[in-house]
Amino acid sequence: MADTPLFDRITIVGAGLIGSSVARAVRRGKLAGHLTIVDASPEVLGEAKELGLADSYHLGAAEGVAGAGLVMLAVPVGAMASVGAVMAPALMDGAIVSDVGSVKESVFKALSPLLPSHVHLIPGHPVAGTEQSGPGAGFASLFDGRWCILTPDEEVDQSAVDKLTAFWQGLGSTVEIMEARHHDLVLAITSHVPHLIAYNIVGTASDLEEVTRSEVIKYSAGGFRDFTRIAASDPTMWRDVFLNNKDAVLEMLGRFSEDLTALQRAIRWGDGDALFDLFSRTREVRRRIIDAGQDDAKADFGRPHEE
Ligand code: NAP
Repeated sequence: MADTPLFDRITIVGAGLIGSSVARAVRRGKLAGHLTIVDASPEVLGEAKELGLADSYHLGAAEGVAGAGLVMLAVPVGAMASVGAVMAPALMDGAIVSDVGSVKESVFKALSPLLPSHVHLIPGHPVAGTEQSGPGAGFASLFDGRWCILTPDEEVDQSAVDKLTAFWQGLGSTVEIMEARHHDLVLAITSHVPHLIAYNIVGTASDLEEVTRSEVIKYSAGGFRDFTRIAASDPTMWRDVFLNNKDAVLEMLGRFSEDLTALQRAIRWGDGDALFDLFSRTREVRRRIIDAGQDDAKADFGRPHEE
């Protein structure tokens, strides 16, 4: 662990699940001499204060970012531009401005025209999270062993990228550098479309007339329950993800629909081989995710079962 903190002053804007987890991990890694939290909501800020997540707290982004060498935006993707506009005049010379948003190209496009040329804008996305929200939901180990993708543009200062890389490593993550557009395409299929499918299947089940709602709840362990965890994710965050990653999501959804039609046809024509082949390939994908340390091999996600 370093003797001197990586940054004299860090400001996190947005004290929700991700912002509060960054705050906890910053404290754990002793990465900041002084940590400030900004949140537009007095209730959220009060909760963060009660949890003792930082050294100082502000409702306004302009006061909160003054003197910070790193400003980390942890607000919904649709709120990045308004925060950027408010804080821009108060940013310190040479400050690194980054974010944790789930979409990268739109965040860069929203922030870059607003920020002064004396700061380094390096968008980022920790590929870690849960379905919960708010400061109480965060935890320091959220980023341990998880990927954090940084999407610097070609002109950004390399030493700033190196420093932000060291920051995420200090939070426990492994850092990958990627082009923003490629990030959005990859995350569309690994995260955004799966969330849309979960929202849709839970919505369809709750709208069914022939099956009662109580039956949906009662027999949920037959697969449905695992979709409900994802479909309980924050509505504001996910609305913003779909509105801001429209092209990549629609592209992946097009492919998904074609494959679904092929499955429909296989079921209709009794093509068991096609079904068996696909299900064998997908089982192999699960095995590779476990081998890569991205999930636990325990059956049923490790839920306790009686012997
Ligand atoms: P969250 O728990 O809802 O936290 C967001 C916080 O930002 C809330 O406290 C919200 O306050 C605050 N906020 C909203 N607008 C603001 C503004 N203009 N100024 C200051 N604070 C503002 O959401 P989260 O899950 O931490 O998500 C934050 C970001 O992380 C999003 O961009 C998301 O895409 C990204 N991300 C999320 C996950 C995940 O699994 N959840 C994973 C990776 C990345 P109010 O509640 O009062 O609106």
